[in-house]
Amino acid sequence: MDLDSLRINGARLQHTLEEMAKIGATPAGGVQRLACSDEDKRARDLLVSWLREIDCEVTIDTMGNIFGRYAGTDPSLPPVMSGSHVDSQPKGGRFDGILGVMGPLEVLRTLHENGVRPKRSVVLVDWTNEEGSRFAPAMVASGVWAGKLDLQWAYDRTDIHGKKQGDELERIGYKGSAPCEAFPVHAYYELHIEQGPMLEAKGMIIGAPKGVLCLHWYDIHLEGTANQVGPTPMEGRNDALVAAAEMIIKVDQLPAAMGGNMVATVGEIHNYPNSRNIIPDGVHFTIDIRSWDDDHALAAFDKLRPQMLEIAQRHGTPIRIEETWKVVKAPFDQDLFERVYATGVKLGYPTMKWVSGAGHDASYMNQVMPSAMIFVPSIGGRSHVEVEETRWEDCEAGANVLLHCLLENANEI
Ligand SMILES: [Zn+2]
Repeated sequence: MDLDSLRINGARLQHTLEEMAKIGATPAGGVQRLACSDEDKRARDLLVSWLREIDCEVTIDTMGNIFGRYAGTDPSLPPVMSGSHVDSQPKGGRFDGILGVMGPLEVLRTLHENGVRPKRSVVLVDWTNEEGSRFAPAMVASGVWAGKLDLQWAYDRTDIHGKKQGDELERIGYKGSAPCEAFPVHAYYELHIEQGPMLEAKGMIIGAPKGVLCLHWYDIHLEGTANQVGPTPMEGRNDALVAAAEMIIKVDQLPAAMGGNMVATVGEIHNYPNSRNIIPDGVHFTIDIRSWDDDHALAAFDKLRPQMLEIAQRHGTPIRIEETWKVVKAPFDQDLFERVYATGVKLGYPTMKWVSGAGHDASYMNQVMPSAMIFVPSIGGRSHVEVEETRWEDCEAGANVLLHCLLENANEI
């Protein structure tokens, strides 16, 4: 058949996404499917049943990653692969992650019903716990698969109730037996919602990111002196929260001070004992710095560090700085990135090139195999919230770009 005219079934993709969104559905229209929860299990079970319907061979590895292999005509060739994650944030949206799993599923259904067998096999993957909101850090299972994180360490991550990730994986029946380690893959694509406002603002439908920004996480701990607020004069206080407030302003000012190409955010703060009539004696907050330039991000923290030390000293609040996590900038494979862009244009969708601010499983894949991503617009740029929304026709467009990118790679030697 004429492969150029092949298109996925947009209505079926919509229906599939709507079926999935019923699992862990929240009253305000989002989903809550935390990693290794009962909802995660139900979503996995449904995915596996759908894969088996179209004669895919399903494999589960020791980290719970699910692989569905649609056999090509030459099994000796490394496959092409595409996937993302079915887990969500607490009160998350209906598109983040799951579009990147239902998209390739729709691609495989399209190939199956048209009897198209490319030379290389096409593998769909669902990566366990991309979000990192129940068990930190994020993207943990793709990290183990890529050989960048240790399996036992990943098993030992605990949630706020002290439950271990490895035990929870076992409980839901998804601690598989296949080794969690990279196998040769010819090309990897991840379809994802943008989670930002750029595509919509520019009237674009397909985004071809040249790579993912570097990501640096820090944890700041401040120690103050608790006391009754009434009798304690303002002079000589060691108020950890006031010190933190000054530091947060410095973080917000950092990108402008460094000359842009960067975002810096304090998104999480804990104040102790958190009582209105006690001077705070402990504060813990996080800093997230992202840039297209790793050295620029490091230089930014080098600039911030002495400012924080000075503030801590002035308030008499000893400071401890933890460097929690660093992911280097990841330029995607040049050929695949160009293919995404060219395919978007060829199919008639407004398409643009740019960079991605969010981390994705593709960041780890990109370290071990040729990888690229395909982005579609987020309405209002909103994500990780229940009102997260993407137009159905844009989901369809993204899946069509994925179809043709995968087909081209799957048919090349
Ligand atoms: Zn995601």
